[in-house]
Amino acid sequence: MKKLKVLLGIISMFAVGFILFQNAEAQSRADRVLISEAQRITNDTFYNFSQTPNGARVYSVNQPGYKMLNAIDDGLTKLFTLARQYNYRNRLNYSDYTIFIAAPDRAKNGNKQYSPDIAISAAQYAGTVYDQGGYIYAAGMVMAYNPCAFIIAEHTKDFQHVSDVVRFEGEHLVLYHNDRKFYNKTADHSQGGGHPILR
Ligand SMILES: [Zn+2]
Repeated sequence: MKKLKVLLGIISMFAVGFILFQNAEAQSRADRVLISEAQRITNDTFYNFSQTPNGARVYSVNQPGYKMLNAIDDGLTKLFTLARQYNYRNRLNYSDYTIFIAAPDRAKNGNKQYSPDIAISAAQYAGTVYDQGGYIYAAGMVMAYNPCAFIIAEHTKDFQHVSDVVRFEGEHLVLYHNDRKFYNKTADHSQGGGHPILR
């Protein structure tokens, strides 16, 4: 009897180990897809992986400082608080989000103010006021809905701006997973509208 218990114990240990291993495998496969997509869009290489104090996942071109990581948490906290006021329930965990911090393609906006942006291909923004000749400058960009991932530009100051961009890009993802109609109405800014969407 005792032998059987020991044997069952060993088997269940293997089973648990196998499930953990499978999850880790699936996650790293999803991450590899995300990383190569982020590299394609930004032409950057994301050598660095870290987590915010609240558990959001971060890939970056450089090791992010604590101010950058805290600003990401801050933006997500504001987003989740608002989302709960709308009675949204899905994807309100920090660990649901993977954020890519890319090298900025310009540091200042059209008004000469510090506002790091990434250049992305124009797509639906072609011919609009955003169009810079085949590409647009954006503070951030949603990259994947499942798992939730978006790209922002590295900041060396004005971390309040980081927090805002995180909240704003996150809005699209929260809406996608909680209110598809509202999501469809607000996803494409070339038709007008902007952020914040949730107030
Ligand atoms: Zn947006």
